[in-house]
Amino acid sequence: MKAIVKTTAAPGVEFVEDHPEPTVGPRDVLLHVGAVSICGTDREMYEWTPSAVAFNLDLPVVLGHEVSGTVIEVGSDVSRLAVGDRVALETHIPCEQCFMCRTGNGHNCLNMKIIAMHADGAFAERVAVPENICFPLPEGMPLEVGALLEPAGVAWHALQRADLDVAGHSVLVSGCGPVGLLIVQFALHLGATEVIAVEPNPYRRGWAEKLGATVFEPGPGVVEYVEEHYAHRSGVDVAFEVSAAAAAYPTIFESVRREGTIVTIGHPGTPVPVDIAKYINKNGITLRGTFGRRLWDTWEDLVEVLTRGGVDISWLITHRFPLGDLGPAIDLLTGDANKVLILPNGPVDGAATVGGAETVAATAH
Ligand SMILES: [Zn+2]
Ligand SMILES: [Zn+2]
Repeated sequence: MKAIVKTTAAPGVEFVEDHPEPTVGPRDVLLHVGAVSICGTDREMYEWTPSAVAFNLDLPVVLGHEVSGTVIEVGSDVSRLAVGDRVALETHIPCEQCFMCRTGNGHNCLNMKIIAMHADGAFAERVAVPENICFPLPEGMPLEVGALLEPAGVAWHALQRADLDVAGHSVLVSGCGPVGLLIVQFALHLGATEVIAVEPNPYRRGWAEKLGATVFEPGPGVVEYVEEHYAHRSGVDVAFEVSAAAAAYPTIFESVRREGTIVTIGHPGTPVPVDIAKYINKNGITLRGTFGRRLWDTWEDLVEVLTRGGVDISWLITHRFPLGDLGPAIDLLTGDANKVLILPNGPVDGAATVGGAETVAATAH
């Protein structure tokens, strides 16, 4: 089968026409891959950045981890899924045995394996995965939206880490890549009084504005705005750091009010100094990290919001490419694009064509 494989610890990937068919273990299902959205980590692995090296990949490995697909074969011990089921994949494979797994924190498993790092991913026609990482898609949810659930789950988990405490509160979002934009959308849906979004890229800033955020380039303007509008309560209530830029933190600590909350999502490449005495002790700010998605309440609640809650995230998809075009697709990630999909088996959800860059005219809701 065709697949995109990371073969060596060096920049680049290989487009392989005759990759071996996946083997389906007793607890695995085989998926006909529907849509796979490209993640920032795919670019890291493609360019072989220092953080990609730190992922400790089991090479060779098929890349692609934000996946939806249809079950076409089930292993002998599979009980929950059947041929024909449409699913999205949790990227993290918990062991289900360790302390974290046994105490309700499987998203932070001590023996975590990650799809497309330690097990083959889905930039391929087919992929075999453990049944226990499959999330059945609700009826009517397009496969393309299914491929967005994993990154959208990162955004929803960040809001869970803030105890969903954004209703009636002001929010700062630092970084407006796909996850940051989804936090903007979800926070406003949940009733945030204002979302202040900080982003250097004008295209992404434009999307944040379209979603309803007050937008800024990184710089002193953010703290000036907060001091002018939120002096009466000493700052904004909740901040989400998604940009992964260590340089974003001084602005965030200066913008969040006393007893406010900061949730960190992006992984800064370098340690970030924090004035504990000033911000954590005196100002009483709570600093919370987030990793992956909670299993499975993040998924269950997110899907409720997208279905019964009527929140549409399909606007996030701006481009679609066939499997062989990963290079140009990845080049788009740092340009004018939100989510870029790879469709390894051609168009899905009844779309007629796929090929080249296709910008979808969409409006945000
Ligand atoms: Zn990802
Ligand atoms: Zn575990």
